[in-house]
Amino acid sequence: MIELFVRCDDVTDDTPALAAVAGAMHDLAVPCAWACIPSRLTAAAVDRLAAVPGSSVHQHGWTHQRIGADGVDTEDELPGYPDRASQRTAIVRGRQAMLELVGRRAPHVLDLDTFTPPRHRYTRDTLAILHELGVKRLSAGVYHDLPSRLIYAVARPFGVVSLGGRGISAHDRPCTAGVPSLGPVEISVSVNVDLDRRGRPREVDVDALLAEIESAARRTSTVGLMLHHDTYAGRPDRADALRRLLDAAARRWSIVDLRTLG
Ligand SMILES: [Zn+2]
Repeated sequence: MIELFVRCDDVTDDTPALAAVAGAMHDLAVPCAWACIPSRLTAAAVDRLAAVPGSSVHQHGWTHQRIGADGVDTEDELPGYPDRASQRTAIVRGRQAMLELVGRRAPHVLDLDTFTPPRHRYTRDTLAILHELGVKRLSAGVYHDLPSRLIYAVARPFGVVSLGGRGISAHDRPCTAGVPSLGPVEISVSVNVDLDRRGRPREVDVDALLAEIESAARRTSTVGLMLHHDTYAGRPDRADALRRLLDAAARRWSIVDLRTLG
């Protein structure tokens, strides 16, 4: 039995794009895990999502930023902290902000058990910190193309968390980086609905995406779909395509709440 889950990333404020995607989830009764950037999350966004049945909100880093010496923001945040203590301080601040804002306004949607690292990049320190804080699920990305599978197979036995710029995924298994006591279980996404590999918006092609889900489902029984609500800004045609995709997917597979996995 193939199960899908849906994760929508980079929630900060209540924008028309957020409303468009939240409206699709509401109308189609699709449960969605919303990954929120705590340093910029607003009460209005929380209220918007809390009104959608099946929503859960979880922490997506603290600032989602890493400004390099050249002034460029690589947006991957966590590998940029110089040591474990400073990374821990940032993650704890994010957790605290989620507790204070979401815990106060809509505790029924707050999911402190799940963490999505910005740009799916993290370090061994991240795993140790999440373990200490009691986080049970790490949601990164697991891809099923041949190069990705080869890299995972080579790197996993050595307990590294990234190789050649790719995160090393271990879907459905403890994400231990070689140290068993470190692991939250990794429940990762494998279909990037609206961005290409370089992070540029791509067309929401319903037939192609259904084929991609089908192909991922041959390798894992739980397939995660990743959305970026910002890509729907001012694009009702994209939002329509997303509705058609979710509707078709819900007819073929079961779409479950991320909180029930792992
Ligand atoms: Zn993100």
